Amino acid sequence: MKEEIYWQKVKHKVCVRCVDGDEFGNCLLPKSQMCALIEHFPLIVESVEKIQSNFVSDYVNVLRKTVCETCTHQNENGFCGVRYSLDCGLDRYFPLVIEAIESVEKDKTI
Ligand code: SF4
Ligand code: SF4
Repeated sequence: MKEEIYWQKVKHKVCVRCVDGDEFGNCLLPKSQMCALIEHFPLIVESVEKIQSNFVSDYVNVLRKTVCETCTHQNENGFCGVRYSLDCGLDRYFPLVIEAIESVEKDKTI
């Protein structure tokens, strides 16, 4: 339930702008190329919720340590071909993902 609220935010703030989406928030990638945003979503929410910083680099550092290190696309040297070719939706839109996740908490205080 909680995760669904976060996912709806992400869909409306990130996926609607994604080159791999249908402009309405639905993903057009085939299952065989599932976006890391979908694949690692619970871990992404958990990681973002732990950080409060004005610097995106602080979030990126945590993303690399938590999500990328558990992702099958990254090798033991820390290289990710999907990231390198700008094909990771999570990496490509990470600032928007942070904004979407953090907006859930902000909405509660309004
Ligand atoms: S590739 Fe990722 S960011 Fe893009 S529409 Fe699909 S789930 Fe959303
Ligand atoms: S950047 Fe690469 S390793 Fe990190 S989540 Fe995306 S696909 Fe996985």
